[in-house]
Amino acid sequence: MIRGIKGVKDILPDEVGRWQLIEAEARRLAEVYGFREIRVPVFETTELFARSIGASTDIVEKEMYTFQDRDGSSLTLRPEATAGAVRAYIEHNLSASPTAQKLYYFGPMFRHERPQAGRLRQFHQFGVEAFGCTEPAADIEVIALLWRFFSALGLPDLTLEINSLGEAGDRPAYKTVLLEFLKKREEALCQNCRRRMATNPLRVLDCKVPECRAATEGAPKLTDHLSASARGHFDAVLAGLKALAIPFMLNPRLVRGLDYYTLTTFEVTCSHLGAQNAVGAGGRYDGLVETLGGPKTPAVGFAVGLERMVLALPSAALPTPSKLVYVASFGLQGLSTGHRILYDLRALGIQSDTDYRASTLRAHLKQADRLGAALTVIVGDDEVAKGLTIVRDMTSKEQVEFPLASAAKSILTLLNTA
Ligand code: ATP
Ligand code: MG
Repeated sequence: MIRGIKGVKDILPDEVGRWQLIEAEARRLAEVYGFREIRVPVFETTELFARSIGASTDIVEKEMYTFQDRDGSSLTLRPEATAGAVRAYIEHNLSASPTAQKLYYFGPMFRHERPQAGRLRQFHQFGVEAFGCTEPAADIEVIALLWRFFSALGLPDLTLEINSLGEAGDRPAYKTVLLEFLKKREEALCQNCRRRMATNPLRVLDCKVPECRAATEGAPKLTDHLSASARGHFDAVLAGLKALAIPFMLNPRLVRGLDYYTLTTFEVTCSHLGAQNAVGAGGRYDGLVETLGGPKTPAVGFAVGLERMVLALPSAALPTPSKLVYVASFGLQGLSTGHRILYDLRALGIQSDTDYRASTLRAHLKQADRLGAALTVIVGDDEVAKGLTIVRDMTSKEQVEFPLASAAKSILTLLNTA
């Protein structure tokens, strides 16, 4: 037997209702907030990701699915979609538009990580990217959308953590201070962090190893080294969140696993999720469009992990399934009449089904029960001869008769009044 790949999951019909609900709400709210959908490819040139996400990040160092195309060029399955969205933004000259470009996307992402609950190798994200505005209001809008999305679906026990990474110019001075601090505690750090000290010291703050966390507990804060404008931006974002009554916690060590972030960064965690508790994260990336060869363009966005949302979604959020009408037809005349009724019911948008293998009323009723039908339409040769059909309420077992000619319409009325 050929099996699926480790960390790459099937989403089966019984689970898909949660996905559909989450996706529909994401799409609805993104549009409500003025974002428009963009669909970018699942693979791109490797260089796009290396240059945007950063060569010394976990993603680029060890998590990318990179392969050689037939012509020898290096391609990579996207580990995230911001890079692709920015590439498309530049390539299609969206910056020429006089209006801000507010985009959203859905889709699978690929990272070679150790599979566990809430951490997969193919996972799915919903994300937004707002290009063009440096104003703190744009950060606030993106965070408000994220918060509204989680609230609308009733996700419990969320924490919004926020930090500022400053402007690019704020970092060199901070890095020096941080390195001094880290050097004194080098023995306490994991191998990875010792290496990161040389390549990308901010990453050390992001390490999940408990010993590293403890050792960097009192690390100097980047927010104490912000330029006046970065400080002003951050304060404005925090004031805006307060004005909208969106609760947040300052987390001075939130640096995020991608190099392109500047100024505001944030992450939302859900305490019901165990170790992999981040449901969504994002921030500002004012330098990325330029880094990838476009015009200087500020931008801010977020990405939500849909697998983790599915895990955290309360069952109460799920809508009651629509009522199914089952058609039980048998006998020569009954069968063809039944098929016609089914066709008419479906034309009216009524969720309806039958089982072509069942040839007796008994067998049909059994299948109707298994499918959870609300009503069963019974039509055998006798009913056809009388020009009527019997409609059985599967809960009360009450039966009513309708003329065949208008059966579908009568059933629609019955469903709407029930
Ligand atoms: P984490 O700290 O959990 O590894 P991250 O910082 O790598 O997250 P981002 O790249 O910012 O995450 O992606 C945004 C969201 O996508 C995360 O908050 C998470 O919900 C989800 N996510 C990231 N990696 C995975 C994965 N391997 N499997 C499932 N979901 C993921
Ligand atoms: Mg990660």
